Amino acid sequence: MTRHTPSLSFEVFPPNPAAGNEKIVKALREMQDIAPHFISVTASNNKFNIEETTVRLADFIYNDLRIPTIAHLPAVYLTKEMVSTILHALDKVGVHNILALRGDIFPDAAPKNDFKYATDLIEYIKEEAPHFDIIGACYPEGHPNSPDCVSDIKNLKKKVDAGCSSLVTQLFFDNERFYNFQEKCVLAGIDVPIHAGIMPVLNRNQALRLLKTCENIELPRKFRAILDKYEHDPESLRSAGLAYAIDQIVDLVTQDVAGIHLYTMNNAATAHHIYQATHTFFAK
Ligand code: FAD
Repeated sequence: MTRHTPSLSFEVFPPNPAAGNEKIVKALREMQDIAPHFISVTASNNKFNIEETTVRLADFIYNDLRIPTIAHLPAVYLTKEMVSTILHALDKVGVHNILALRGDIFPDAAPKNDFKYATDLIEYIKEEAPHFDIIGACYPEGHPNSPDCVSDIKNLKKKVDAGCSSLVTQLFFDNERFYNFQEKCVLAGIDVPIHAGIMPVLNRNQALRLLKTCENIELPRKFRAILDKYEHDPESLRSAGLAYAIDQIVDLVTQDVAGIHLYTMNNAATAHHIYQATHTFFAK
């Protein structure tokens, strides 16, 4: 019985401003014919000016490509005044969807005091600019700062109650962990759509980076076997990484996931490959 047609959306990141936007603009133009449900644009937490990077790219996606756009906004290093300026810049280009984030805290940079948690940012946006739609981040395997999963889910409930219309997950490779998380959300009364974040692993460097930065993520035996076997065979690693992501997506859509959010790593060929293999599942 089909109850629900999921959405397909993409994440891209703005390049280092010194490198220019040429490559990402080309990649986005190549993704345009897929007509994703939305494209979200990440934001630097501490390094680059958000208006010059995220807002500029969001403007291009929304106004030139005519694709609904979500701007990420990590706020722990921003003041209320800085957030208001960014909201104003987004307003000006017509982008009214924000993925409201705390952002990571770095040991060598003291946070500003206005936004301790994503929830503080959501409350602020709701007050300052209630016409914005707000999306939140969530962690099927628990946020690394959380002492336990109960407090993590309780904090997520507070975040959703503050005004999130949907959630996007951190990437994961074990669907069972996502299903367990979804169940906990239902039990906690978190009833907004949850978009599953899927990242196809295409090369060894990406895999090594992942292993280093996502220590809270379980790598299933099947996934580790791919990394081990094809460590020095880039072509096979790419094929197996794509096949693994497609397999995850097939399982998720048959279990009625609200949406698949593909971490594209700005790679249009990856987006097309996944789309070709799965397009019949998604809402047009
Ligand atoms: P929060 O929701 O504030 O949670 C952070 C921690 O605080 C959790 O452990 C939570 O349980 C706890 N907590 C929350 N509320 C409370 C409370 N009221 N009391 C006590 N504890 C509380 N980072 C970027 O810099 N740029 C990006 O573009 C970006 N995009 C992302 C997109 C997605 C889909 C995801 C999943 C993450 C993204 N991140 C990004 C990473 C994110 O900024 C980090 O994971 C950050 O550490 C947490 O941000 P958050 O908004 O989830 O935090």
